[in-house]
Amino acid sequence: MDDCLFCKIVAGAVPADKVREDGLTVAFRDIDPQAPVHVLVVPRAHHPTPGARAAAAPDALVAMLAAATGIAAAEGVSGTGYRCVFNVGRDAHQSVEHAHLHVLGGRDLRWPPG
Ligand code: AMP
Repeated sequence: MDDCLFCKIVAGAVPADKVREDGLTVAFRDIDPQAPVHVLVVPRAHHPTPGARAAAAPDALVAMLAAATGIAAAEGVSGTGYRCVFNVGRDAHQSVEHAHLHVLGGRDLRWPPG
């Protein structure tokens, strides 16, 4: 998608602090981190929501979860815990319409979230 920020990051047209890449996903640090560890995992292919992604290519969704597990280990939060979040739609304040998984950790993450 020409006007999608995360497509541009995947393509390298917009810079990002990338921490991991594989054939199906790209992961980079959130520009406005909400925790000491805050990484976004996105599928290379554009889909507006994770549900759309799952319906079109379930292997990409599995790869996103596998990437999150690897990132948590690499960032040193596997033992202390971390949260994986999909914000979907208006009430969840989804701001970028390219499916993305937030990986948050490194502090006590309160529940329920705000
Ligand atoms: P969401 O609100 O769930 O749609 O999450 C979108 C996330 O993208 C937010 O946490 C933003 O801080 C983050 N974000 C926006 N622009 C960039 C960027 N250029 N590089 C990295 N993260 C970004």
